[in-house]
Amino acid sequence: MSAADIFAEGFKAEPYWWEAAAPETDLDPLPTRADAVVIGSGYAGLNAATELARAGLDVVVIDGGRLGEGGSTRSGGMVSSGQKLVVGGAIKGIDPELFDRMIGDSISSFDYLQTLIQGEGLDADLAITGRFFGAHARSLVEPTWRNGRILAEKTGVNVHFYDRGTQRQVIGSDYYYGGMVVDEYGGLHPGKYHRALRERARKAGVKLRSHAKAGPVRDAADGMKLVPTERGDILARHVVSATNGYTRKDGHPELARRVVPVKSYQIATEPLPPDLIETLIPKARMISDTRRDVIYSRPSPDGSRILFGSRPGFFERDDREAAPAIYERMTEIWPELKAYKITHAWSGFVGMTADKVAHMGKRDNSDFAAGCNGNGVALMSYLGYQTAQKILGRQNQPTAFDRDQFTAVPLYSGNPWFVPIVAAWYRLRDWSERR
Ligand SMILES: Cc1cc2nc3c(=O)[nH]c(=O)nc-3n(C[C@H](O)[C@H](O)[C@H](O)COP(=O)(O)OP(=O)(O)OC[C@H]3O[C@@H](n4cnc5c(N)ncnc54)[C@H](O)[C@@H]3O)c2cc1C
Repeated sequence: MSAADIFAEGFKAEPYWWEAAAPETDLDPLPTRADAVVIGSGYAGLNAATELARAGLDVVVIDGGRLGEGGSTRSGGMVSSGQKLVVGGAIKGIDPELFDRMIGDSISSFDYLQTLIQGEGLDADLAITGRFFGAHARSLVEPTWRNGRILAEKTGVNVHFYDRGTQRQVIGSDYYYGGMVVDEYGGLHPGKYHRALRERARKAGVKLRSHAKAGPVRDAADGMKLVPTERGDILARHVVSATNGYTRKDGHPELARRVVPVKSYQIATEPLPPDLIETLIPKARMISDTRRDVIYSRPSPDGSRILFGSRPGFFERDDREAAPAIYERMTEIWPELKAYKITHAWSGFVGMTADKVAHMGKRDNSDFAAGCNGNGVALMSYLGYQTAQKILGRQNQPTAFDRDQFTAVPLYSGNPWFVPIVAAWYRLRDWSERR
């Protein structure tokens, strides 16, 4: 199929998830005062806001775009605990004691998410189907298994190991040299989870307002903060910034030197025959691999199609232009998919940090949670909740992600000029390992 032929009739350059639950506009007037203003309406912002409102505070969430239009309704929706720290490589740079505490908080974040969704009956299509991690090079099979053993030991998950001869039991592809499956990981529907969080926040009394981009927060009289927005100023006792990959220097000059926005792209196939999906991705597992230039894939929660995420090359492109390169990577793993077209292509920004871990703390005159490093469905929900607990004085102890050490990225002031260079370097190393 030529690149132009991959687009199905009715193709949309927007997230597949928005078909079921799209971001929302709310142009009601902004209040001029509130106990707390939350900047950013993703998972972190909504979890923080609901917690504050349930404690009796008058809370408004503002977003520069539609409600949920950031990373939260664009993700792969994969959920896990601690895998990013071990498999994602942050383990290498961290003090072992701090690492163990971070693992503890990652487990708590996953527990928090599951308890929230199941305990409050949120409609989010959460399913624990397991996750396959593929080794894209022969030399990476052993390190993948080693990481699996660390994950099992540190987080208590059940891990199963596969070599090239046995991996077809868990993935319908010969692309990998083996890998591992973690039973306890799974996925949810990012759009539906966000819609459920909006409903939950409103029930708690939170005001949600779209199209109200905030400028830098300033100190005001009597310990108050002034939040200037496109739709007027708000005076508040507390400000939470939950802007992650959408942090920019015109709103958050300090944070924007620490959180680098990097785009990740996804495509959705047209509906596929059910037996083909079961052959390619048995048991609806989540899939990711060892490449630095990582890929991630999964069936849609209704089992009708395959979603596939990656980067299209070194430079950022618009979503339709990027789609053929993503499609090529998908069909490299599953050549059977060359017979099928795609209905959606989209992208979103993840927030990367120099030390590869998320942070919460105080910057830019606000309490913040940011820097998901591509792993934030559970973690950013939890850090939003923890930020609220901290403001309410209810934490037993700070989370391991709440640290003063949050250094600015060297030579970075808001224009991520080095992303194409890093992407090229990653691709080169991935390619040479596979050779
Ligand atoms: C393509 C993609 C795939 C991903 N896949 C996964 C996955 O499979 N599993 C996983 O765990 N994580 C994944 N992630 C990461 C996950 O989606 C994020 O970590 C999480 O959604 C971040 O939530 P958040 O609330 O911190 O930020 P976001 O949801 O990004 O929300 C930030 C909001 O802040 C707003 N904002 C920014 N500045 C201002 C301002 N000055 N004034 C007003 N509003 C402002 C933005 O408009 C935005 O809506 C993925 C992310 C992307 C983009």
